[in-house]
Amino acid sequence: MLQEFDLAARWTSMIQDLYAEAVHNLAQKWPDEQSLEVSYRLIEGFDDDFAQNIIARPDLHFQAANQALRQFLQDEGHNSMYPFVRIVHLPSDQIRTVSQLRADDISMMLSIDAIATKISGVRPRIYSASFLCASCGHVTDIKQPNEQELVEPIECSQIDGGCGRPKRQTRFILQEDESILINSQFIELQESPEQLKGGIQPERIICIGEHDIAGKLNPGDRVKANGVLFIRSQRKGGKDTPVFDIFLRIHSLERQNVPLEEISITEDEELEIKELANRSDIYELFSESIAPSIFGMSRVKESLMLQLFGGVARINPDGTRNRGDIHILLMGDPGVAKSQLLDYMSKISPRGQFTSGQSASAAGLTAAAVQDSAADGRWTLEAGALVLADLGLAAIDEFDKMNESDRSSMHEAMEQQTISISKAGINASLRTRCAVLAAANPKSGKFEPVSDIPFTAQINLAPPLVSRFDIIWLLTDIAEQEKDAKIARHIINNRLLGTSELLVNQGSAPDPSRKSSAAMKKSQEGDEILSKELIRKYIAYSKRTIHPKLEEEARNRIVAFYVETRKKGGESSDSVSITARSLEAVARMAEASARIRLADIATVEDVERAIRLTRTWRNELMGENFDETALHTGKKATARNSERILLDIIGDLQAASTDNLKVANLIDIFNEAQNNNIDRNKVEDMIEKMIREGRLMRPRGYDTIQKL
Ligand code: ADP
Ligand code: MG
Repeated sequence: MLQEFDLAARWTSMIQDLYAEAVHNLAQKWPDEQSLEVSYRLIEGFDDDFAQNIIARPDLHFQAANQALRQFLQDEGHNSMYPFVRIVHLPSDQIRTVSQLRADDISMMLSIDAIATKISGVRPRIYSASFLCASCGHVTDIKQPNEQELVEPIECSQIDGGCGRPKRQTRFILQEDESILINSQFIELQESPEQLKGGIQPERIICIGEHDIAGKLNPGDRVKANGVLFIRSQRKGGKDTPVFDIFLRIHSLERQNVPLEEISITEDEELEIKELANRSDIYELFSESIAPSIFGMSRVKESLMLQLFGGVARINPDGTRNRGDIHILLMGDPGVAKSQLLDYMSKISPRGQFTSGQSASAAGLTAAAVQDSAADGRWTLEAGALVLADLGLAAIDEFDKMNESDRSSMHEAMEQQTISISKAGINASLRTRCAVLAAANPKSGKFEPVSDIPFTAQINLAPPLVSRFDIIWLLTDIAEQEKDAKIARHIINNRLLGTSELLVNQGSAPDPSRKSSAAMKKSQEGDEILSKELIRKYIAYSKRTIHPKLEEEARNRIVAFYVETRKKGGESSDSVSITARSLEAVARMAEASARIRLADIATVEDVERAIRLTRTWRNELMGENFDETALHTGKKATARNSERILLDIIGDLQAASTDNLKVANLIDIFNEAQNNNIDRNKVEDMIEKMIREGRLMRPRGYDTIQKL
């Protein structure tokens, strides 16, 4: 057993032996850097007993270490530096997930591996309070360990030179100027999806970060938080109860330094992945492994495969950034397995998040500043699905039903891949570098195939948001006898393959979704497919290590495709068949295609795959005459034309009007429109709509129309 008085001396000699140079550097960088990172592993090598004692009695060691460090600096002539020793790299038996925390863990040093989900604003708190005795003027300093309650002196101590009066015979006045204030912050940590066993809700713990730890984290950050657990009794009706809440006082933080570090890949697995990547049928194998229980949709699945890998995000010399992630929108009638596909994708993607646009959580899809009772009612910033899916994939069901605040931050979140929040003193920019896979249903319940309204306007999404997607699939539920029979058989056979959930839960039947040791599995039709685990590792490996570039021939092919498609033109003079935005989409898909082969160069074949997919979805969405302007405006060329004609008519009538208000009479509009083959009903509909859009008004009742 180590003696307390030994500690400072031991720390001093350890800092001298192992960290003299690091301390010197710290002094140079002061005050930008305020702490010295000390590796537990090094200490262990230095003195094993001493190291174990740190785990058992952390608070004593933290104090002694800080003292030793400050003394060391003073001896070197740096007098007013108060840095902290931060111990990192704890042994693996001290690492916990949030749900593993137990009573035994309290008051020893441990490490929690998690995601920061909520961060409160940084506020000063009193660390050491100075109290003035109202009777004699003597000042007493009291350390304040508890951030919820200010501890006052019991008496004005005579030993220290005070008058000796107890608390009830005098008054102690807090001297804010004399007291020592430190920065403090509440941080909520949550288990990461990878740590969840089964489908239970992730557990959370509230942590306190102080001094230079405050302000270090953003919601969505993956960290190891090292520190000491402490408890506080839950209060009910103003009274303490015997049940306690656990908190973590953070001592030091370690961030991930490899992207997607939470997914570990052994050497054997790496070999297996490389072998798979060399197979000539890897593309078919991979896309068939996506949601094998869903029949057909091979083109959709091929595009989802590309989405999982994604293109390469690039920083340009001028500081701007081009995203690499591929966003896909599934627009479809109800019951075509959209939700099922999304659910599956969120499970096979690293950092996959499944959420619904209607999600009840306050943070919603992006992020929100909320007042949180768990953090003493402070404003806290909470990460939503897109932030938690950073570097992964966010599958958003019922995308058309998301709330207004998400709708407004979604553009930035998808294109710039950040969310800026500035509210109640919290200013933050959170990263949302994830692919978005969204599903939307038509407003009227089913898509209207023959209509002036393009499909993309039949859903409740504004055109600018729709145009953020690289690929838009139209999945209609049209009766086709042969296909219907196949799907029906597939679905029914699938039920046969599944195992009763009740039996699985009772333990009397094996869980068919549990990983079998073999990485390859068999699908319903008996084809070999990749297991979910292997898919996830494959993607993580590729995203981490492969950053393909387009070779020259491939670039030329994309340019040729663009020029050729532009030449065809759209339906009318104001429509454009393809825009530069789609050009980038093709490049991203080609890069993703190269990543599947683990190739550093994207070739013409990769571009061909991307072009073929691009042609397919555009064809299915709008037929031969693809009109990208319709995507951006939500109107087909014919509809745009009749609107323009109508507006011209109204303009002409207004110009010719003898009325001093210069209005057009409704009856004249009907007549003129009739001459242009637009019937009365349609004119009425269009006028109603343009009035709603604020482009027309009725200045003098129903019969008069005026342009705005
Ligand atoms: P959506 O979200 O598009 O309304 P769901 O994902 O809820 O549809 O799917 C409805 C049901 O129909 C699911 O049980 C799904 O498995 C089944 N289903 C629909 N189409 C297919 C298909 N092509 N293959 C297999 N199952 C299908
Ligand atoms: Mg659904």
